[in-house]
Amino acid sequence: MKQSLSRKLTSVILLTVLIAVGLVSFSSSYFIHDQFKDYIIEKQTQTINQIVAQASLQYNTSTESWDQEKVHEVGMYALYSGYIIKVYDKENNSIWDAEVWDMSACVQLKNDITHRMLNQFPTQEGKFISRDYILEYKGSDVGKITISYFGPYFYQVDDLKFINQLQVILLIIAMISILSSVFVGIYFAKTLTRPILKTIDATKSIASGHYDYSIDYRTNITEVSELIDSINYLSKTLNEQDRIKKQITSDVAHELRTPLSTLLLNIEAVRDGLVDLDSNRLKSLYDEVLRLTSIVKDLEQLNKIEVSSQKLDYQMFDIKELLIECINSLNVKLDEKNIDVILKVDSNQIEGDRNRLYQVFYNLILNACLYSNQNSQVFITSEIKDHYITIEVKDNGIGIPEESLPYIFERFYRVDSSRNRDSGGSGIGLTIVKQFVEAHEGRVEVESQLNVGTTFTIILPIKKPS
Ligand code: ADP
Repeated sequence: MKQSLSRKLTSVILLTVLIAVGLVSFSSSYFIHDQFKDYIIEKQTQTINQIVAQASLQYNTSTESWDQEKVHEVGMYALYSGYIIKVYDKENNSIWDAEVWDMSACVQLKNDITHRMLNQFPTQEGKFISRDYILEYKGSDVGKITISYFGPYFYQVDDLKFINQLQVILLIIAMISILSSVFVGIYFAKTLTRPILKTIDATKSIASGHYDYSIDYRTNITEVSELIDSINYLSKTLNEQDRIKKQITSDVAHELRTPLSTLLLNIEAVRDGLVDLDSNRLKSLYDEVLRLTSIVKDLEQLNKIEVSSQKLDYQMFDIKELLIECINSLNVKLDEKNIDVILKVDSNQIEGDRNRLYQVFYNLILNACLYSNQNSQVFITSEIKDHYITIEVKDNGIGIPEESLPYIFERFYRVDSSRNRDSGGSGIGLTIVKQFVEAHEGRVEVESQLNVGTTFTIILPIKKPS
């Protein structure tokens, strides 16, 4: 049967407290009774000894007689304390007998104590017993005393009152403990379940497509707090993925629209006999087809980035050699614009995916070339510090406006299409750079000033991160 977490927690807490309180009450009640019984037995022995001593003192050695009145006082004191005594002289003649003095008081006392004890301890077998004690005065026997009492021990009215009060106090403590544990249990269950319920709401909302849902709830329970953070991270990531997906769709449509409409217009014009299909027109149509092909290639590459950036093929290689290779393969483009590349990088072995990092620096040097003016220079420098290598690619080109800097690493983002028209790029070069560098657990930084130049800084770990 399904049960809510809150109800389950409350009942578990309540059950645990009930068992704990039950055990504590039972054991404390048992120990208190046990200790109290020992105390009563000790008190009883003391009272008997006192009665015997007091009775002995009532013998007068000089007159060799008993002080009847004092013996009567001792007997009354004993009777009042629950003991029925009989005092005999040396010759076994009765000096004072409680039953003789007041039979009905003795019977009443016996009934009261028996009733009290059997009421309190129905399972205990007790009865009135009689014991004889020798009465001594200054070392010589002067008589005998018979003491009858409820054995093996009995409680006085006050003793019983005390033990019952103690039990009531224990019961009240147990009730207070149970009540407070119910409140604490309910409060605790609610504290724990509230964020979980919020998390359930959030996951339901996310599942129904509301990726921007975030749980705005703080708790000091580590695991629940981590769960909330994970859900928030999940929704943020899904939201970002959703935004990128929509962005890509609209960007792809936008990218394809221009070459397709140029093709369409031209073909329609040729079909309608408005223009001739001469070699110039054919070339322009061919260029548009090339542009479409290049866009499709970029899309294919884009699709591979995320998958391939996860699986890096680490190897040791010389960073300087890699940069020289990039520059050499861009020589034609660099020569076209008469751009000098000044390479100030030492030969250093680093560990990384050589092909991916080749692509990173190729894209950066290509951009530096594309967005630089004729007859300019590109500087590549490197520095090793604290297990990291920092490589800077700096140009004196057209720069990037400040407001565009946060977006340049996004897919298909181009600062403005007019200035990029000649570059032939489709706005994914820097997306690839960022993706591959971050896959190496490195980072990319950019600084740029319009019409002054741009510096891209790549920071990479020298060794494969463990
Ligand atoms: P693209 O394929 O258009 O070059 P990128 O992702 O490589 O796409 O770059 C995104 C945009 O950032 C470019 O369109 C360009 O406007 C700008 N950009 C990149 N590198 C530079 C640079 N070195 N100088 C100036 N602008 C740059």
